[in-house]
Amino acid sequence: MADSSFIEVTCPKCRHVWHVDVTTLDKAEQIIYRDNKPQQARYRVRCHKCGTYAVVTVEFDEADDG
Ligand SMILES: [Zn+2]
Repeated sequence: MADSSFIEVTCPKCRHVWHVDVTTLDKAEQIIYRDNKPQQARYRVRCHKCGTYAVVTVEFDEADDG
């Protein structure tokens, strides 16, 4: 139940697939807003195998909006 913070990443070069804990990602490369609210954040993560950077997209929860 607690592993929803992990997202799957696929390397664009060597197709290596791994999982990243989004709570360890601190600085987003880009944040996408919709209706003045953050909807998605994009992070760059590095492939362990070949060193290529992959971009991952994290969706924000809207649970706080009452
Ligand atoms: Zn790779």
